[in-house]
Amino acid sequence: MLPLLSRSLATAALVFCAALPAYADSYISRLLNKPVPGGVAVVDLGPAAQAPKATWQGKPVLVVKDQDARWLAIVGIPLSVKPGTSQQVSSGGRNLPFVVGNKQYPEQRITLKNQRQVNPNPDDLKRIEQELDVQVRAYRTFSPVTPSNLLLDKPVDGPLSSKFGVRRFFNGEERNPHAGLDFAVPAGTPIKSPAAGKVILIGNYFFNGNTVFVDHGQGFISMFCHMSKIDVKVGDAVPRGGVVGRVGSTGRATGPHMHWNVSLNDARVDPAIFINAFQP
Ligand SMILES: [Zn+2]
Repeated sequence: MLPLLSRSLATAALVFCAALPAYADSYISRLLNKPVPGGVAVVDLGPAAQAPKATWQGKPVLVVKDQDARWLAIVGIPLSVKPGTSQQVSSGGRNLPFVVGNKQYPEQRITLKNQRQVNPNPDDLKRIEQELDVQVRAYRTFSPVTPSNLLLDKPVDGPLSSKFGVRRFFNGEERNPHAGLDFAVPAGTPIKSPAAGKVILIGNYFFNGNTVFVDHGQGFISMFCHMSKIDVKVGDAVPRGGVVGRVGSTGRATGPHMHWNVSLNDARVDPAIFINAFQP
């Protein structure tokens, strides 16, 4: 154990080291830079006349122009990344570091009447595997479009119910953590696209029920599921605020609610970050 004073000095040093240079302290950094598992790292790529390309862990990442003609990489950090690790974004032959901090996610216990949704049978498992494959491919879409807005609109007006990252136990058995954000809203509520985009996948899946994927550009993707009705088709251009479907309880759901995933560079991240509702 360190004495109290040394500990607070150590903490201060850590905070100082983790701080971004002053020039990167734009509103994008202030609002989106939450470098924790399930969060986002905003990495300064410096000034350039043309948009630089950037990758992290071999995958292309979203690059946007900031004030003063600087460019920023907006990197999604999956929940599986170890806290405390040093990471590097590659851009134009340079390696730009960021450090992943820590975040504790709570547990949630859920009771399902349908035991098959906890322990699917062999046919279900085959179906689940195929559906996962199709959805992962959608998340890996990287179109050259610049997103219309990084700060997203709420897809529905309503209170948040289940948060992102919650460790979930269904009928006592641990399953994947909650990869999105839930809103408590009645069945039939219209779901509005939080930014402009293109519909890249729709389907009716074992766990997710009726599902819509909207590509906002450069790997920035929204997914809505458990819908009662889908109002779009693959290839549709959706304006910001355009209705993609209605709230329901299809798939593995205990009742009607709106579930929203946000993905960056194929990493599911906390949608709360983009609606300024992130809690550390
Ligand atoms: Zn959910």
